[in-house]
Amino acid sequence: MELLFASNNANKLEQVKLLLDHENVLLPKDIGILDFNVVEDGNTLRENAYKKAYALFKLSGKKVFSDDTGLFVKSLDGRPGLYSHRYAGNDASDKDNRDKLLSELENNADRQAYFLTVVCFIDENGRDYYFEGRLDGRIADKEYGTGGFGYDKIFYVDEYSKTLGQMDIEFKNTISHRAKAVLAFKKFLVDNYENINY
Ligand code: IMP
Repeated sequence: MELLFASNNANKLEQVKLLLDHENVLLPKDIGILDFNVVEDGNTLRENAYKKAYALFKLSGKKVFSDDTGLFVKSLDGRPGLYSHRYAGNDASDKDNRDKLLSELENNADRQAYFLTVVCFIDENGRDYYFEGRLDGRIADKEYGTGGFGYDKIFYVDEYSKTLGQMDIEFKNTISHRAKAVLAFKKFLVDNYENINY
């Protein structure tokens, strides 16, 4: 069974393939769509995930899934949330985004936060389904660790007494918000499609 992943990110693709335990996952470029680009201007992660999946479904008519993730900080009314990627501006680096978040939380004792990932799947009939994964934690006082990307170095997970940046990538990929959402999606595939592995 072929699945299209509405993303241009080859690193994400590798992670998703491993989690789904499914080799036949293709990016837009693999089916000749070289300029796949969707404006993520929805009001929720769901809307953005749907927009990406639907754009590729319309172009291909095939089974498509996408994901969208945000970091939600309680004492900042959920910011950076939908804007996690460009929190410190359109051309912001991951480090710029982390610095901005740390400075916004300076002297703030309530540092509770969570990552949320939404996976949207559109089946061969155009019907949409959603799967979510959440990881709770706290924003650390400064950066810890050298690994990961995005906000990993400042996202502390109490259960493991470490930031995501201090975990090795294989371990992070078993507990992350994205892993939980993708594994829920995998269960759906196994329950609803005979023989997902072809
Ligand atoms: P995306 O929807 O997966 O592109 O995620 C949006 C933004 O959230 C990214 O640009 C990162 O800044 C942040 N982000 C998503 N997942 C993670 C993660 O696992 N660790 C740290 N930051 C993340």
